[in-house]
Amino acid sequence: MVKYEILSKVMEGLPGSVEISEAVFEGANIILYSKNKDFVLNSRSLIKKLVNKIKKRIEVRPDPSIHINERDAKSIIKDLVPKDAGLKDIWFDDARSIVLLEADNPGMVIGYHGEVIKSIREKTLWVPVVRRAPVIKSDIVKTIRYTLYKNSEYRRKMLHNIGKRIYGREIDKSDYWVRLSCLGGAREVGRSCFLLQTPESKVMLDCGVNVASEDDAFPYLNAPEVDIKALDAVIISHSHLDHCGLVPLLFKYGYKGPVYSSEPTRDISTLLQLDYVDIAQREGKKQIYDSRDIKELVKHSVCFDLGEVNDVTHDVRLSLFNAGHVLGSSLIHLNIGDGYHNLLYTGDFKFTNTKMLPKAISRFQRVETLMLESTYGSSSEGNYPPLIKSETELINKIKDTVNHDGKILIPVLGVGRAQEIMLIVEEAIRQKRIPDIPVHVDGMVWDVTAVYTTYPEFMNDKVKNLIFNQKHNPFTSKLFHRVGSAKEREEIIQGPGPCIILATSGMLTGGSSVEYFRHLAENPDNRLILVSFQGAGSLGRRVQAGERTIRMQGRRGGSSVVKVRFPVDTISGFSGHSSWRELVGFAKNLRPKPKKVITIHGEGSRCIELASKIYKTLHVETVAPRNLDVMRIR
Ligand SMILES: [Zn+2]
Ligand SMILES: [Zn+2]
Repeated sequence: MVKYEILSKVMEGLPGSVEISEAVFEGANIILYSKNKDFVLNSRSLIKKLVNKIKKRIEVRPDPSIHINERDAKSIIKDLVPKDAGLKDIWFDDARSIVLLEADNPGMVIGYHGEVIKSIREKTLWVPVVRRAPVIKSDIVKTIRYTLYKNSEYRRKMLHNIGKRIYGREIDKSDYWVRLSCLGGAREVGRSCFLLQTPESKVMLDCGVNVASEDDAFPYLNAPEVDIKALDAVIISHSHLDHCGLVPLLFKYGYKGPVYSSEPTRDISTLLQLDYVDIAQREGKKQIYDSRDIKELVKHSVCFDLGEVNDVTHDVRLSLFNAGHVLGSSLIHLNIGDGYHNLLYTGDFKFTNTKMLPKAISRFQRVETLMLESTYGSSSEGNYPPLIKSETELINKIKDTVNHDGKILIPVLGVGRAQEIMLIVEEAIRQKRIPDIPVHVDGMVWDVTAVYTTYPEFMNDKVKNLIFNQKHNPFTSKLFHRVGSAKEREEIIQGPGPCIILATSGMLTGGSSVEYFRHLAENPDNRLILVSFQGAGSLGRRVQAGERTIRMQGRRGGSSVVKVRFPVDTISGFSGHSSWRELVGFAKNLRPKPKKVITIHGEGSRCIELASKIYKTLHVETVAPRNLDVMRIR
């Protein structure tokens, strides 16, 4: 059984009397199955010592032959878990001896000092794993969890194979190098994709799609150095389609390896990818992949907590850190070649606190190369007004419209701004700073918010305190109404009295926000508030620039003219990206100071201006590469 050196080392550290029925890898973790009940239940301190010695995670689980039957285990668990924990679901993963417990209140399932799960383990000889049930019902979370559960046997093999590759051989440092290929998202925003290669492994960072472009929508997956089947790992920074939209295509082309991300990123990405293929189908566009490819992706997803260090190939170690951009968004830190080189890829990030998220982390043990997003990489962007000022402005505009009995339309991106605005509006109404009016949340925004309620631990302390200690979840407030159909939309538009409407898309380029715009724009008592970036050519940008006569396509063909008579406001302080000042500030504050900075994810002029500013400020090598450029970074 034992042929890997690491497993031999583990075995040597165990007393001879202990019988291990199987030793397997789950990625870089080592799992020991044993029929010895005493060892399974009482080996914690022994294992802890061993972990300290070999610096790898080790877990002991009961051999599947010794755990009690599922029916009895279920009734024991139901007896042990307090009623207030809101136990929702119990799933048994027989091959791994794990029982998944889904509950409203995971803390109570775990118990004080873990006493409840400890007794579950002792009495059933199953290993309890506790997760939070979404507070708002979420079909996507349910489907993903079911898919993972159904494919448990497959995943067990996949994770073992990853472990075999991680521990299979020593790193040969005699002729070692690290190079980076820019496949998309260099001097542009929209299809981020980078390939990192060493003599030992090939790792892809993000694989996005530019939804706004017909011709340059996909990254250069046909570049000569790209062999999709030969990739060792794909790592996703966050759930926006410009970073994850094409990952299912990799599976269509035969990739069978792991996709690493945080849990919220996995769930929200899946939702957006399904929506993306759905829209393509409805609009009669060519389908580049379908829901089967997305399912394959879910099957191969591997999620890590923020701050955890994990080997993902035998020479690349990955850590994800909070990026402050959207829920679950991560800075990707790679330790390459056992300390030979350290790279930080920011994805999209925000270097100030928002209503919901703490600002991006800027302290690391080591960083030599920084890949920095440059969305606002122009000094003309300056800085945003402070959040509190933007909040007050938003509240005043809403109050003013309510006084006229008008309706307020706020077009939002489904992920990020929508939930930030929900938090601000909910707080303002709770504190009676604006009157108690309904807030309609349309379509996709609601589904994404449901995922948000599954992972409150990714939010800042203030929101966590509200949810956990004060038992007030702002997202489940009675203020919010889900809009699920065209009929409900019609009722809101025709209905009396003031209200707030949050609808996608954020730039009025499609989706229900355009429908609301069409019907609300001609009444001067209503109001349009733009809170996100408006791309050139979008309806949002045109109205923002002062266009007041808009020819619009009818829903059933033909066109009509809409006279824009309602006030149009732009409030800029809610962006999820770092401003110019924050970008430069991040590069300056980053510890340790990087030796090289690569500016990406910004229009050409912005990547160049930011690279030049950082060169002058930090006196380090900077570069603003173009797509298809390949660089040796060490
Ligand atoms: Zn983003
Ligand atoms: Zn982006």
